[in-house]
Amino acid sequence: MSKPRTVLVTGGNRGIGRTIAEEFLAQGDKVAVTSRNGQAPEGALAVAADVTDSESIDRAFTEIEEKLGPVEVVVANAGITADNLLMRMNDDEFESVINTNLTGAFRTVKRGITGMIRAKKGRIVLISSVSGLYGVPGQANYSASKAGLVGFARSITREVGSRGITANVVAPGFIRTDMTDELSEKQRSEYLATIPAKRFAEPGEVAKVVRWMASDEAAYISGAVIPVDGGLGMGH
Ligand code: NDP
Repeated sequence: MSKPRTVLVTGGNRGIGRTIAEEFLAQGDKVAVTSRNGQAPEGALAVAADVTDSESIDRAFTEIEEKLGPVEVVVANAGITADNLLMRMNDDEFESVINTNLTGAFRTVKRGITGMIRAKKGRIVLISSVSGLYGVPGQANYSASKAGLVGFARSITREVGSRGITANVVAPGFIRTDMTDELSEKQRSEYLATIPAKRFAEPGEVAKVVRWMASDEAAYISGAVIPVDGGLGMGH
C-alpha cells in the first residue's frame, strides 16, 4: 500500500459510511468520521459535525487537519430521506433533503478543496443513489438531491481536474442499512422484483468501490457515475 492518507467520511458513524471508514482503516489510512452524534468506528477520529452548518464543517476540518494532517480524500456520504408523494411534499421535506444531501456535500467539498489544490492531489467521492438518475416515486426531493451531485462532480472535475484531483459519484442501489430497514415487506418485495441481481447489497460492496475510486489506480477516472446496484439502474 502507498503512504497512509487522511480520509474524511461524512456520516460515517453507521450504515454505508461506517463501512467505508472501516475499509480505509483496514488499508492503513488515517480516517476521520463526522456525524451529528460524534460517534465513529474504532480506530477513526470521531468529530461531531452537522453538514447543514458551514461553521461546524469548518471546525471539523480544522480539528482533523491538526490531528491527522491535510485531508486528501473526502467521501461525502451523509444523507437523509423524507419520502412523500410530490402532491403532499411540503417545502421543509424538499429543502431539508437538498440541504443535507446536496448542499451538505457542497459545504464539505468546498472546505476540503483548498488543501487538495495546495497539495496538487485529492480524491472526492460523492455518495449518490440509483434514485438520482432512475427516479423513484415518492422521492422527488431525494432524487433531485442525488442527481445534483452528478452535475456537482462534473463541474468540480472541469475546475480542478488539472490539479491531480478527481471527483466521482458512486450510486448505490438497495443496500442493507437503517435507511432500507424502514421499507415495508411489500416495498421490499416490489423492489427485489426489479433488481436483476435479485438481492439487496451489503454495505461492504459499496465501500470497496469507494476505496478503489479514491486509489492511485483510479487517477484517470473523473466526473464518472459508478453504479453499485445489481443492475437496477442500467443505462441511467
Ligand atoms: P444511514 O441512515 O444508515 O446513515 C446516514 C448517515 O448520515 C448517518 O451517519 C448520519 O449520522 C449522517 N447524517 C445525516 N444527516 C446528517 C447531518 N445533517 N450532518 C451530518 N451527518 C448526517 O444511511 P445509509 O448508510 O443507508 O446511507 C448513506 C448514504 O448512502 C446516504 O447518502 C444515502 O442517501 C446513500 N444511499 C443509501 C442507499 C441504501 O440503500 N441504504 C442506497 C443509495 C444511496 P447522524 O444521523 O448520526 O448525524
